[in-house]
Amino acid sequence: MNRLAGKVAFITGGASGLGRVGAERFAAEGARVVIADVGDASEALQSIARAGGTAASVECDVSSDASVRDAVAFAVKTFGDLHVLYNNAGVMLSADDDATNTPDDVIQRTFDINVKGVLYACRHAIPPMIESAQRCGEMSSIVNVASFVAHLGAATPQIAYTASKGAVLAMTREMAAIYARRGLRANALCPGPVMTPLLAKFLSDDAKRERRLVHIPMGRFGEPHEIVNGALFLASNESSWMTGQSLVIDGGITSAYVTPEGPAWSADL
Ligand code: NAD
Repeated sequence: MNRLAGKVAFITGGASGLGRVGAERFAAEGARVVIADVGDASEALQSIARAGGTAASVECDVSSDASVRDAVAFAVKTFGDLHVLYNNAGVMLSADDDATNTPDDVIQRTFDINVKGVLYACRHAIPPMIESAQRCGEMSSIVNVASFVAHLGAATPQIAYTASKGAVLAMTREMAAIYARRGLRANALCPGPVMTPLLAKFLSDDAKRERRLVHIPMGRFGEPHEIVNGALFLASNESSWMTGQSLVIDGGITSAYVTPEGPAWSADL
């Protein structure tokens, strides 16, 4: 508890999925949280309030520079500081396909949200984050959500998504170097498959899910809290000498050539 005490965290896409679990956990660890999402964040806010946490929400489309600018200004006005930027919002569009078949509008929308969204949030959040670092005496932290696919190189055909997450890794490394002596760290979080709304619509039946599980050494999908544990580590001062890195949390996918047979481990086995 209290690993983010005194910190203000801005979480994009925090109304549902991994972002919502992150918002709840960050608040439970003492952060004052701002959820910036195109969707309705009221359930997330209620759940944080029930648990005794502090949070506010602001409507924000990360693909719009003006929307992100206003949302960051709201966060700073509401809580007076900004220490953590958790760039979590992202999409994987259903018409995303291989290099020959992906339509331009899908490439454009994927890049607008997954790449420009991260860049816009950094553009507007970095100046107040540098000021807040100065005030609190600890470096501020950017956590950019990429994906294990950006490490693996190939999953299913989803070229726009894969390219967008590769761009997130590259931006993270550059920002880490540029701001390393100015009070700011930046790291990437690379989750493997977790059954959020984003993935559930792609793996809609047992056959599709089984096909994926074959490639996960641990034999199961990740749980949202297992990803958020990594985000919390990167956001907090526990990772104070870490910048420009990618934290891969994927049940072993990116380290395996051949996966073991048999059921997933359980204490009951
Ligand atoms: P999700 O679809 O469940 O939730 C995404 C959230 O982002 C939603 O609340 C949505 O309203 C919000 N959002 C979408 N477009 C937005 C925009 N333009 N502006 C602001 N908010 C917007 O997705 P998730 O599975 O929780 O994924 C979160 C992040 O994790 C994404 O960046 C995704 O690429 C990444 N990721 C997920 C998985 C997985 O298996 N779920 C694996 C690897 C990486």
